[in-house]
Amino acid sequence: MKYGNISDLTGVKAVFESARELRVPVIVGLSEGELAFMGVREAAAVLNVLRQEHDYPIFLNADHTHSLASAEDAARAGFDSIVFDRSELPFDQNISETKRAVEALKGINPSILIEGEIGEIGTGSEIHEQAPQGLRLTTPEEAKQFAAGTGIDILAPAVGNSHGLSRSMIRGEAQKRLNIDRIAEIAKETGLFMTQHGASGTNDEDLRRAIQAGITEVHINTEVRLAWRRGLETAFTKERDQIVPYKLLPAAVDAMKHVVRARLLLFNGKQRSTVSA
Ligand SMILES: [Zn+2]
Repeated sequence: MKYGNISDLTGVKAVFESARELRVPVIVGLSEGELAFMGVREAAAVLNVLRQEHDYPIFLNADHTHSLASAEDAARAGFDSIVFDRSELPFDQNISETKRAVEALKGINPSILIEGEIGEIGTGSEIHEQAPQGLRLTTPEEAKQFAAGTGIDILAPAVGNSHGLSRSMIRGEAQKRLNIDRIAEIAKETGLFMTQHGASGTNDEDLRRAIQAGITEVHINTEVRLAWRRGLETAFTKERDQIVPYKLLPAAVDAMKHVVRARLLLFNGKQRSTVSA
């Protein structure tokens, strides 16, 4: 099950159309910032319409929720999964707050999936001058302790991943590399579903091997945001007098679809030539 973050309906269109063309299930994610822009209940309503109209396996994730109040808002609105991220807290406090959130959110919807986060994966799905250095990897021992102490369904470990793209990654001169052995060790210790955050700019072969080693959900946001901006810039440059939004915005949708399709193909182990779209 894989994933793309969105801020508005152009993002929804890009992710949904890509998944549908490839006939693969997909998760749409919104961070607290993205939810503040689109609206918690508005996002849930749009996804509900798509599910009803198309009977399609598309799911809704509240990404990096930093307070119980905003996690509860998402649970009440009908989100399928919530990333409850208190990884900035000391480990013991992260465990106790995440445990409390799991209990409260399952009380609202027993079938909701809750993800907890440990370790360092950097902040901001944005362009960074440089890739973050020296991020501490999650250990199998702490993953096991965190899983047992919280009752989470999904674990977000730090395994070489980080949010955002550096300028050298955008130029194609650098890539993120993952610690595949560590992923396999954590999967073995916890038996949980695992999310890889900050997958933009990651080596393709590493992503393939990470999924084989136990990653069940991959988050792609920065690459999609970059495509959105480039698509718009191309449209604005080509059509200087155009002011009709629905004539300009398809260029952003198409640019995002190009990225989302390529990532979904990779994550689902499909070859371009064998997929009928
Ligand atoms: Zn993330």
